[in-house]
Amino acid sequence: YTRLRLILGDQLNENHSWFSETDDRTLYCLFETHSEATYCEHHIQKITGFFLAMRAFADRLRALGHAVYYRTLDETRTDGLETITDCVSQAMQHHGTEVFAYQLPDEWRLDQELKAFSEKVGGVSCDTEHFMSTRNDVADLFRDKQTYLMETFYREMRQRHRVLMDANGEPVTGQWNHDHANRGSLPKEIVFPEPTVFARDATEIVSMIRSHDIPTMGRMADERFTYPVTREECLKALHDFCDNRLQHFGTYQDAMTEADPLLYHANLSFAMNTKLLSPREVIDAAIAAWERDPEQISFNQVEGFVRQIIGWREYMRGVYWAQMPAFETVNSLQHDRALPSWYWTGDTKMNCLRHAINQSLDRAYAHHIQRLMVTGNFALIYGAHPDAVDAWYLGVYIDAIQWVEITNTRGMSQRADGGLIATKPYCSSANYINKMSDYCKNCHYSPTKRTGEKSCPFNSLYWDFLDRHRERFAGNYRMKFMYATWEKKGAEQQAEILERAAWVKAHVEEL
Ligand code: FAD
Ligand code: SF4
Repeated sequence: YTRLRLILGDQLNENHSWFSETDDRTLYCLFETHSEATYCEHHIQKITGFFLAMRAFADRLRALGHAVYYRTLDETRTDGLETITDCVSQAMQHHGTEVFAYQLPDEWRLDQELKAFSEKVGGVSCDTEHFMSTRNDVADLFRDKQTYLMETFYREMRQRHRVLMDANGEPVTGQWNHDHANRGSLPKEIVFPEPTVFARDATEIVSMIRSHDIPTMGRMADERFTYPVTREECLKALHDFCDNRLQHFGTYQDAMTEADPLLYHANLSFAMNTKLLSPREVIDAAIAAWERDPEQISFNQVEGFVRQIIGWREYMRGVYWAQMPAFETVNSLQHDRALPSWYWTGDTKMNCLRHAINQSLDRAYAHHIQRLMVTGNFALIYGAHPDAVDAWYLGVYIDAIQWVEITNTRGMSQRADGGLIATKPYCSSANYINKMSDYCKNCHYSPTKRTGEKSCPFNSLYWDFLDRHRERFAGNYRMKFMYATWEKKGAEQQAEILERAAWVKAHVEEL
């Protein structure tokens, strides 16, 4: 072989132009490394999922006629190779290849490592051909702006890619955004569709991971792994979503319930973040399902879904490249607390957190509102250090890769970016959680009480958060109403609430 092409664990796109023809000069390489398995404490299902998907991808490339050099974690460890570039150096020597090529990574960390290595060996890089925008589109669109408005970017993407647009270049319904129809709470009697699962025995990979003393978090019942890891499985999962859940996706996208972990969400983030599915084919499938059956799938469902993907997902990636590496250390609210230990056990009397955390530990999945308005909201109003919050989110979810994790966590959820992404912090009292879920009715705490032993901790912490950050937020036009409500409570009631918040913060491990 004269040419070595590196494929990272999140670059499993068989439709990349690299694979359009086979030749006997090119060797494709995939490496399971200790450094990738330990750059944070990952969920056991996350490491397992990446290794399974990489192994399946190597098999797929071989079946397509390509030459593949795959090294398992056992093999790279036996050879004393810790990092991806260690592995590439060894492979180039071993096979006598002269040319090194790689697809541009989506993580800053690997981008730096591979850029430096490539300069040393005279390598070449190319695009992953995955996203519908470039690394720099967001930076270019919002040059010199204090706030990056997602809606502006989303409209630009709809126009540029002619998605849900009419022949005159206007949005098909005359309206860009149907979010007002997407805040439904769940009716009492509802049966959720059973999603297709792709169960496989992961005992061998799990014991390999354990044998290298790799610290992990979370659980995997019976070492049974249930996410799709091949392209065929991912396409089945996409069609399962379009056929059975898209019809209520938008309407109930902000709802939460004890009865079901997924509701009408897609659960496609792992498939998309590993590049097994492309964003274009995902939105095309959803739009085709709506076109086939507009009676069953109303427009707000499909528009809401498309916005998540060509809006939020692409936008977050652009924010990442516009702001890194500084984004990794921003902490504009100067929060400094450790996360309570029950984030790793789910052992708390707060029912919403117990559910969202246990679900995350059991499945390496929580849907957006659980991440934002339960676990993220608590960490924010409690005042957890964004480093701690980031480390937890980067570890716990199967879809967590830094470009999309840090922008959502540090930016959107913890507002550590000073308001670049969100015009107001995503903080709430029990009121919101009670409205959007059935968690409160089975809780040890009362959602309507602000003080006293049984009062919901979210309530006092919420007011304490607003009071602590009065100087920063009181002038925000979207928060005027909240501050007016706080003022109306009067000094005595305010003092009682702040006293309860102080107790909650001091006894957080007991909540
Ligand atoms: P659905 O609700 O069905 O949405 C469909 C798709 O839209 C998702 O698969 C995803 O690709 C995309 N999407 C939706 N919202 C967002 C968003 N805010 N940013 C980017 N893409 C979005 N997403 C990740 O992929 N990786 C992460 O590490 C991650 N960390 C998050 C941390 C926090 C604190 C929050 C609030 C959100 C995070 N998200 C992350 C975004 C979102 O919660 C997940 O993409 C979503 O829950 C994945 O489940 P789903 O496929 O069922 O999504
Ligand atoms: Fe969560 Fe408070 Fe509701 Fe309990 S009462 S479920 S802690 S919001």
